[in-house]
Amino acid sequence: MAAASPRLGVLFLGACLVDRSQLVRGLSPGVWWRAPILGFLVRAGDALFLFDTGMPRRLVAEPLALDPEGRYGDEIVPVMRPRDAVLARLAEAGLHAADLDAVVTSHWHFDHAGGLADLADRLVVVQRAEAEAHPPGPGLPFWLEGEHRLSLVEGDRELAPGVTLLSTPGHTPGHQSLLVETATGAYLLTSDAVYTRENWESDRPGAMVDPDQGRRSVARLRQVAAEAKATVVFSHDRLQAASLSPVPHWYG
Ligand SMILES: [Zn+2]
Repeated sequence: MAAASPRLGVLFLGACLVDRSQLVRGLSPGVWWRAPILGFLVRAGDALFLFDTGMPRRLVAEPLALDPEGRYGDEIVPVMRPRDAVLARLAEAGLHAADLDAVVTSHWHFDHAGGLADLADRLVVVQRAEAEAHPPGPGLPFWLEGEHRLSLVEGDRELAPGVTLLSTPGHTPGHQSLLVETATGAYLLTSDAVYTRENWESDRPGAMVDPDQGRRSVARLRQVAAEAKATVVFSHDRLQAASLSPVPHWYG
């Protein structure tokens, strides 16, 4: 018997105001952009996965908690309401943390792994290189302080039929993307390998700790997207996000 095709759900998890020059290399600074923060649910057979968790809930009450030392300057301003927290969005969809078989993190920046504190007892799937870039100790960001059971991935991994993690380092050492092949079409969730359509179409990348690696990852995503005829879903593209329907709508 063929396994049922996966289905994809979108969660809106708030936004950040960012200078557009942070998102598209080569632009002059001085223009603000409202970058949506997204999470995704993937139903595959009996399993339910969350891909990325949004920002730490603490930012609702303390928007400056992210940056007590002014590390980001005024370049990133989180905009988070109580309903933008991952647990609140799950609840709107009639779901609880306990319903998640695993929380898959593209990487451990605050806007993707910030909800981990509220998902403390869930299995967290992450690339080994990303986990190793965040060793326990004084430098660990507060959203990573909780205890987590980790499933460490090296390279690509099929999570379920039609649900494939793709190693796409460059933005961070262990960045990964997700390909979801539903019955009605494939979706390639790039996460921060590609912030916006402008990055994708102009060949001007976003922020990369390793630009060469990042370029290779984008090239790889282009190939995967072409082969799978996938709809490419960017991480922080407000125009594209405005066209997406959140859960309870399911794609596929
Ligand atoms: Zn991001």
